[in-house]
Amino acid sequence: MVKKMQVEIAKTAGFCFGVKRAVNLANKAPDKYPGLQIRTLGPIIHNPQVVNQLATLGIKQVGDINELGQGVVIIRSHGITKQLAQELEQRPNLTVIDATCPFVRRAQEIVEEMSETGYQVLILGELDHPEVAGLISYGDPQRTLVISKPADIPAEFFTKRKTSRIALLAQTTLSQQLYNKIVLSLLTIKGELRCFNTICTATSDRQSEALELAKKCDCMLIIGGRNSANTNRLHELCEERQPASYHIETAEDLQTEWIADKKTVGISAGASTPRWLIDEVLKRLQDLS
Ligand code: SF4
Repeated sequence: MVKKMQVEIAKTAGFCFGVKRAVNLANKAPDKYPGLQIRTLGPIIHNPQVVNQLATLGIKQVGDINELGQGVVIIRSHGITKQLAQELEQRPNLTVIDATCPFVRRAQEIVEEMSETGYQVLILGELDHPEVAGLISYGDPQRTLVISKPADIPAEFFTKRKTSRIALLAQTTLSQQLYNKIVLSLLTIKGELRCFNTICTATSDRQSEALELAKKCDCMLIIGGRNSANTNRLHELCEERQPASYHIETAEDLQTEWIADKKTVGISAGASTPRWLIDEVLKRLQDLS
């Protein structure tokens, strides 16, 4: 039996600007290009429910450029590699809808510009994340490195006699604290350092608001795709403050015993979680209490 509880939803929960833009572009595509086959290259965003919903409109995903025929291809919000973008442009009978988030695009431009002007580029991020794969491709392979912690910074940066020129930027969804830590570690390098804080405020805003909620609530529910890096990070951060924090994808994942004796339940959601999924969780909580 669940007692009456108070539920608070983070104002920042759900779609960020870039994801909303990408999903809107995809939703409009069937009307804009009637009769044409529409595909996304990989999942358009890291949310299986949204990907399934688009599939019902005939917009399916392909894993490889060779699976694309004629028609329309939508590039996902966290972008693709430079080489792939060039290949797509050269394909006859293929229209490209570029849904790369403008913030990710800016980070790609920074990598390209810094690389071209001779900087060693350090990308703070997860090596296996598609956004990072895209970012690396804009740099000089000899002078572009992905790091995920201070220990990954090459020791020679601190000992080189010859002046080095280093540019740092981050995967847009990374934690601000980690970025700050890396900047501090790099302050003692021998040479010139340029830092570009490319962490999107959508991520940090969600993180600080979720942390505030986690401090005052007895239980936290974080809604979003299990394959969404920013949702997983939100969950990790909340769990540090409130051990009763649970990552769910849909209302069906919610287990009654998690909330049975709770007075206050906080809800946050990753930047790729649509509002309707949040509303379904809210409805289930209302039904249960
Ligand atoms: S989290 Fe930020 S960078 Fe990523 S898609 Fe959303 S608005 Fe763009």
